Amino acid sequence: MLTCWLISKDGNHEPLQLPHYQTVSMGRGPETTIKDKKCSRHQVDLKADCNKGYVKVKQLGANPTFVDSVEVGKGIEVKMEPGQQLHIVNRLYPYTVQFKEDLSGETPPAKRPRESPSWEAADCKAASNVKVAKQANHTLSSGRESATSTNVSWLGSLAEVLELTALEKPGIWSNGLKATMQDPKMQVYKDDKVVVIKDKYPKARYHWLVLPWESIPNMKALRVEEHCDLLRHMQQVGQRMVTQCKDAPALRFRSGYHAIPSMSHIHLHVISQDFDSPALKNKKHWNSFTTDYFIDSQDVIQMLEKTGKVTVKEGTSELLKLPLRCHVCHEKLATIPSLKKHLKTHISV
Ligand code: AMP
Ligand code: ZN
Repeated sequence: MLTCWLISKDGNHEPLQLPHYQTVSMGRGPETTIKDKKCSRHQVDLKADCNKGYVKVKQLGANPTFVDSVEVGKGIEVKMEPGQQLHIVNRLYPYTVQFKEDLSGETPPAKRPRESPSWEAADCKAASNVKVAKQANHTLSSGRESATSTNVSWLGSLAEVLELTALEKPGIWSNGLKATMQDPKMQVYKDDKVVVIKDKYPKARYHWLVLPWESIPNMKALRVEEHCDLLRHMQQVGQRMVTQCKDAPALRFRSGYHAIPSMSHIHLHVISQDFDSPALKNKKHWNSFTTDYFIDSQDVIQMLEKTGKVTVKEGTSELLKLPLRCHVCHEKLATIPSLKKHLKTHISV
């Protein structure tokens, strides 16, 4: 099954998933960041058909919604396909839709649709395209190395081993990190093995991504002989980012990987645990950093050393649907705003 994504062409927020055959209401509000009063809170209804590869767009608001240059009209429903452009209201706020392979790992590989040859070819090309920084450029002083305790309990009880796939079509949004990491303006640290960029949609006050120059699509592609040292180096660089951070003494940090990443090219998240950020908008964001969906760097390295590969447990994607719980005191909160208010009680600065 493919998944459908709604992509803001202005880059105002991360792609939003449109679940198969579910009506999603869109308009003015924090999810889209649209503040324009001409846009209704329920400007459009969107319903993706992942089998047929289109999205039905129904205009609900009084002001016009456009698909390409055609005005939809209030109460009217039209089809929108990849390549077409949706303007939520008045030829403003452009969006496109993309369908891509489900990366949740929940579908056994045998039942998956065959990837097209062009995807495979593109991936092989990327894999052979190993980029090395021209010059080692150590801009940060080394500091104390990580001493976080290791929790490997989840390793022991692996159920069915699932494949992670990150075969990506060139040019689609999930390849965005590959472009950003090459942009000198976005690089906050680099050496001959890795580069560090700031997360474009930070989920906390400090949120960096450490990426290797070597093209490694995902954790499934990791090999013990080739990559253990690289992962250790990525962790050390992440730790140095923390050490040089002026607020580090007042904040707690974690570094780790999403079990099922949305973006291609392996990346280590280094993130402060305040989660004080407007880009943290929904339950999926929260649970991806505060449940076992987030796997500590040390655990990934240890798993690779012990088993020769990195796998995730069946049902991991379900963790994103868990109720909201404070990661410090485990109190249950009903909504993201109430969670954010609660989090303030744990932040001292
Ligand atoms: P993951 O779920 O582990 O694949 O997380 C991908 C991360 O990349 C998210 O935290 C996004 O906010 C971030 N991100 C998405 N696009 C970009 C980009 N073009 N540049 C930098 N960070 C990005
Ligand atoms: Zn709490």
